[in-house]
Amino acid sequence: MVSRKEIDVKLKKLRLPGIRKHYRFLSERAEKESMPYQKYLYELLAIEEDLREQNKAVRNLKKSKLPAGKTLATFDTKRMPAVIRRQLTTLCEGDFLTRTENILAFGRPGSGKTHLLCAIAHELIKRGYAAYYSTAAILVQILLRAKQSFRLKQEIDKLNRFDAIIIDDIGYVEQTREEMEVLFTLIAERYERKSILLSSNLPFSKWDKIFKDSLTATAVIDRLIHHSVILELNVPSYRTEMKKEKKGEA
Ligand code: ADP
Ligand code: MG
Repeated sequence: MVSRKEIDVKLKKLRLPGIRKHYRFLSERAEKESMPYQKYLYELLAIEEDLREQNKAVRNLKKSKLPAGKTLATFDTKRMPAVIRRQLTTLCEGDFLTRTENILAFGRPGSGKTHLLCAIAHELIKRGYAAYYSTAAILVQILLRAKQSFRLKQEIDKLNRFDAIIIDDIGYVEQTREEMEVLFTLIAERYERKSILLSSNLPFSKWDKIFKDSLTATAVIDRLIHHSVILELNVPSYRTEMKKEKKGEA
């Protein structure tokens, strides 16, 4: 008979904490139920697998910089146009990532673009994908600083390890040509490699202003829309609506 201590030593050495925690309970059950050996082994492996997936999701959530509250649970999908509601479940499953498609969300300020994209990203993380959130303004600063210290490629490679990055509010703040150049480099480098989830309150027709010239704007739009899902949030501002409702109640 092998002692529990001997088993524990092996499980520690092999880094199998899930099995280490649960095998005693499971082996008692297995004896009671005369569980076949193969089933017992399978159950143990499944426990370890679950634990690893959970830990990975926790790590990915930390790395994501996603705002914590903007999840699907707090998102009122009824406020979305029917076309978006219909697509939402499928998007949350993440198959679009394996096809390196982008999600491009448009709508006026307050229409729920940020919340919608973050809710999708939270779901993707639960399914084992890695996602990263940034506003366009902050991302541009990160990239620019990297470029100035000749680390732009490394920074982009780092971002390319994420299956999805959210570039929130592109075009919201006026940016310099140099700032837009690094953003263009990022988008070009991700093209057909990894997905981008982007939001903007400006339609493509106004992107000349963002990217300073129509040639760059066309090049960016071309790459973004080639494999993409476009979500048009033609809904009133949630903030304004909530204010109106509160006033109505008062
Ligand atoms: P946008 O990014 O389009 O400006 P946000 O996603 O920031 O809009 O939404 C504005 C505020 O309203 C946020 O606090 C957000 O959580 C909330 N909000 C917007 N749409 C919804 C919705 N459908 N359900 C719940 N909260 C929403
Ligand atoms: Mg927003």
